Amino acid sequence: MVAQEDFVARRLAMVEQQIERRGIRSARVLDAMRAVKREGFVPSEIRNSAYEDRALSIEEGQTISQPYIVALMVDALELAPTDRVLEIGTGSGYAAAVLCEVAGEVYTIERLEWLAELGHKRLVRNGYESIHTRHGDGTLGWSEQAPFDAISVAACGPEVPPCLAEQLAIGGRLVMPVGKTSRDQHLIRRLRRSQHTFVDEDLGKVRFVPLIPDHT
Ligand code: SAH
Repeated sequence: MVAQEDFVARRLAMVEQQIERRGIRSARVLDAMRAVKREGFVPSEIRNSAYEDRALSIEEGQTISQPYIVALMVDALELAPTDRVLEIGTGSGYAAAVLCEVAGEVYTIERLEWLAELGHKRLVRNGYESIHTRHGDGTLGWSEQAPFDAISVAACGPEVPPCLAEQLAIGGRLVMPVGKTSRDQHLIRRLRRSQHTFVDEDLGKVRFVPLIPDHT
């Protein structure tokens, strides 16, 4: 058993050594990473590894992303406190919690039913009951709640799903790993400049689990 104080110390060290040192400067993002108790979002057997500098395996063969990658994505979304955010791939719920610390309203969709339930439970247990969770295919977005100021996609696909780009507000930002194979993925930041103009930026190579298409 790791004492609670040890988790606090590990969390602060994680932010300093893995996040700040790699160049994330936003005070709001750093504060969010200091606030969310990552150990509360992983299976109990691996709680001890919660602050390691890597992705960890969770239930259903899925992963909780590396802390730095979560910070990088949240930072790239340039969130304001009133922003409405959509996340695709709830997984453990950890990134949704970080988004909730920085943004206004958070909506998150998970494809695997059992994981969607578990992610919801973990969010509630950790004090994030205001986050809206849903089980379904995230590539279709959440049209009833669109438009979103920001969209974060936590699984890789060959292109940005058109429904998601459509559900971005003008001026909205989307971040997603894009690639045709698991070995060739780049984190893309897409800005919706106007109704029909989107601008993409490559934030570098990454490695994510694949998006699960509908009807599988
Ligand atoms: N944000 C998560 C990372 C989870 S990994 C965290 O912080 O833990 C990616 C997640 O996306 C997995 O849980 C996977 O089941 C889910 N996923 C894959 N395809 C999806 C789809 N089409 N719609 C919604 N979720 C999907």
